[in-house]
Amino acid sequence: MSNDKDCIFCKIIRGEIPSSKVYEDDALLGFKDIHPSAPVHVLLIPKKHIARLSEASADDQAVLGRMMLVAPQIAREQGSVDGLRTIINDGRVGRQDVFHLHMHVLGGPGPLGRMIARDE
Ligand code: 5GP
Ligand code: ZN
Repeated sequence: MSNDKDCIFCKIIRGEIPSSKVYEDDALLGFKDIHPSAPVHVLLIPKKHIARLSEASADDQAVLGRMMLVAPQIAREQGSVDGLRTIINDGRVGRQDVFHLHMHVLGGPGPLGRMIARDE
């Protein structure tokens, strides 16, 4: 659990860095993104340090599934009552900045922009 000494999200889990928590259970933590890209922008993370989605293993299947189920609940509770968007950035191609697996939970109230811009 949350045991990577230098990982910023592990530090948030351990309470060493403050965050605006919106969801917590035994396996997951949800907190507001410090630089929101939408009216609702929550980061949902496993308490276990998994660096990136592409390094998750079969042992992580249950926690990954739980993230998918919890995300709509968080979006709804935060005011995005008619849908949401989830994003998991992975590695260089996905422009991942923080190497502790996290799901961006994005929502309105109004519709978000269409998908993602791509650098040419
Ligand atoms: P990534 O690009 O890795 O998918 O997203 C990392 C996200 O973490 C960014 O949206 C960034 O704003 C957010 N973030 C980085 N550091 C912190 C922090 O200390 N606290 C919070 N709440 N969010 C952070
Ligand atoms: Zn971590």
